[in-house]
Amino acid sequence: MNGHFSAVGDQPANGHYEHGCQVIDEEKEFNRNLNDYLQTMHVTEAGFNYHLISVFGSQSTGKSTLLNHLFGTTFSVMSETERRQTTKGIWLSKNKRETSAGTKMADNILVMDVEGTDGRERGEDQDFERKSALFALATSEVLLVNIWEHQVGLYQGANMGLLKTVFEVNLQLFQKDKNSTPRSLLFFVIRDHIGVTPLSALQNTLIQDLQKIWSSISKPEGLEQSRIEDYFDFGFAALPHKILQGEKFESEVAQLGARFTTGHRVAKGGDGGVAETEGGILLPEYHRRIPADGLSVYAEGIWDQIVNNKDLDLPTQQELLAQFRCDEISREVLVAFDQQLTPLEEKQTQSSKLGKAVVLPDLGSIASEAREKCFKAFEVQASRYHKGVYSRKKQELESKVDGRLKTLYQGQIAAAHKAGVAAFSEAVANKVKAGQKAGGGYEFAEIVSNEKKKTMDIFKAEVDSLAIEGVDWTNFEAQNQLFEAELDEVSSKLRKDEIRRLATRVERWVKSRLGDAVGLEFNKLGSGRGGSGAPEEGEKPATEKDLWDRIWNVFTGVVSEAEVRFSDRAKSFDASDAEVEVGLWRLRRKSWTALREKIEEEVMEGNILMKLRENFEDKFRYDEAGVPRIWRPTDDIEGIYTRARESTLTLIPLLAKFKLLSSQSPPDLIGFIGPQPSGVEAGDEEDLAPIGGVDEEEGKSLEEEMTMLSENKRQDLVVRFKKTADGVYVEAKRSAIGGMTQ
Ligand code: GDP
Ligand code: MG
Repeated sequence: MNGHFSAVGDQPANGHYEHGCQVIDEEKEFNRNLNDYLQTMHVTEAGFNYHLISVFGSQSTGKSTLLNHLFGTTFSVMSETERRQTTKGIWLSKNKRETSAGTKMADNILVMDVEGTDGRERGEDQDFERKSALFALATSEVLLVNIWEHQVGLYQGANMGLLKTVFEVNLQLFQKDKNSTPRSLLFFVIRDHIGVTPLSALQNTLIQDLQKIWSSISKPEGLEQSRIEDYFDFGFAALPHKILQGEKFESEVAQLGARFTTGHRVAKGGDGGVAETEGGILLPEYHRRIPADGLSVYAEGIWDQIVNNKDLDLPTQQELLAQFRCDEISREVLVAFDQQLTPLEEKQTQSSKLGKAVVLPDLGSIASEAREKCFKAFEVQASRYHKGVYSRKKQELESKVDGRLKTLYQGQIAAAHKAGVAAFSEAVANKVKAGQKAGGGYEFAEIVSNEKKKTMDIFKAEVDSLAIEGVDWTNFEAQNQLFEAELDEVSSKLRKDEIRRLATRVERWVKSRLGDAVGLEFNKLGSGRGGSGAPEEGEKPATEKDLWDRIWNVFTGVVSEAEVRFSDRAKSFDASDAEVEVGLWRLRRKSWTALREKIEEEVMEGNILMKLRENFEDKFRYDEAGVPRIWRPTDDIEGIYTRARESTLTLIPLLAKFKLLSSQSPPDLIGFIGPQPSGVEAGDEEDLAPIGGVDEEEGKSLEEEMTMLSENKRQDLVVRFKKTADGVYVEAKRSAIGGMTQ
């Protein structure tokens, strides 16, 4: 944009506006204090509710005096004794009067006192006259033309030159703005009216002169046929001699002042050019539609163009003004917005840097309120400016504000999401822990669904609090769904953990049951008659040969009981069929491994040797009726010994292989464990020991899996057992001989 719009008020305001504010000084410089003056006078907040009036006329025709009487201003006037120009450049002052002759005057009347223009002190400086006329026309609603009665009809007089300038300048100024040619009121104040010639006659003479002037000026192309009435309305007043008829002067001035109120047009002016109006002389169509808070910037821009002899293009000026002011207003309204939002933005950035999920309290209400206030404040001030520029700047502001809110809101939702997930996991874990402490009587599925609902409600409340009515992007339904999906994912992870815990508990139970039951079966080996004591009623007498059948039965019985426990409980917390299936598969494998470990423990060298010895001793030392033998030298100790030893020795190959008596083959472990379910995930297998024959790729056969004693161990065991048996035999022998000697 043009460089001439720059920040206003960068000079310190002096606060003393004794004679109003000098807008243009004698060096033709624009005075930047204008905005400060308008602020001091409380005009800037008036919007369009102000009126700008300029006065023109030859020097020393009592213009300043008139304004001071009309509006209570204090423009300096020439003293009665020195005849010297006083008003330099252009001054502006606000009307100090509220009423005139009992009538309330219009609000915020601003009056510009323009330097006299007959060039006595400036020489033939037509240049300034032209420039100030342009300036006044571009800004003012009413041009007061101050004229002595005796000048009326003097076509060649100085005033007529001035009016010619005004007309030419007007055409130049408004030809670009054909659509909305602003009208102006040319209001003639005839001074020192003696009263002999009535005002109406003077009026006619003036109008004739004006028409003459209008026809004499050269008009731009296309405007040759234009009439003076197309651009101007005319108004007239006459005042008596101020000094000779002081009192009358005062009262007539007051009457004139009473006409400075707003009015409206009733009928277009006839040939005379005097429009019929109602109310005061200030018609809305005269207003230049520059908002009061942009007036000084606009005036400065206009003056800059004029002084630099640039083509004065008002629509362009108004657009430039709109851009400048809208930007300025935008910055102003963003200050308050920043005050609210910046601390929140900083807090959010900080905590996200630290990886903390901080949900800012009341963000939704704070942010939407700040947003609303910001937009409202912008609208109130900026909507007075050029519509196109305003709506563009409004969009710019909205996207700036909403861009920041979006970032904040996304951060907030991310934090709420993260915090929510953490709170949910923690709450479920705590409830489960408490449940376990209280003896395990908790319903996992219920805990999960309660906590999920609670967490979802909190999240939804936060998300809802961010919603702004009519603003699409604040609909966060998708985030709600995302959050729920993540909670479900976390739930299923927690459920997996819970299944693991359950599995561990069930496995422990299986282990302990197997420990007891298998231990018992092996203990029976200690009795040479295949069982401990008499068989219970209905029970088939145990034999050593069906050891593995019994163990397998016990094992499958325990496992199927465990399977029921596991699946019942797992289903109670909504585990899926696949999850249950995997759990059972794992349980069977783990149980087998546990069984194998237990058997290995039982057949460990020391343990099994002891069992074999007991078995042997039972057969050797007791007779068929279970009565301990007292060895006599005549007994066939050697025969009994050999039978007992051979009988016990048959146990070793039996123990070496897990083989069922019924089928003469290993149990169907592969069928028992079953194929790996499709639901097995990575990690489900990690803690599983390989099983020969089941896990083919492990390189161990089912045969090996079922081998409880290796060939080496077997031979070693035979040797050791024989030594033990030999020991017992020798002892028996000795006791037999000893018994005889006693
Ligand atoms: P300006 O140069 O047009 O602003 O004129 P001033 O207001 O400074 O007044 C110029 C001189 O005219 C002063 O000496 C005033 O006293 C005198 N003056 C003011 N009003 C009237 C008036 O109504 N009639 C006459 N004859 N003189 C006036
Ligand atoms: Mg003056």
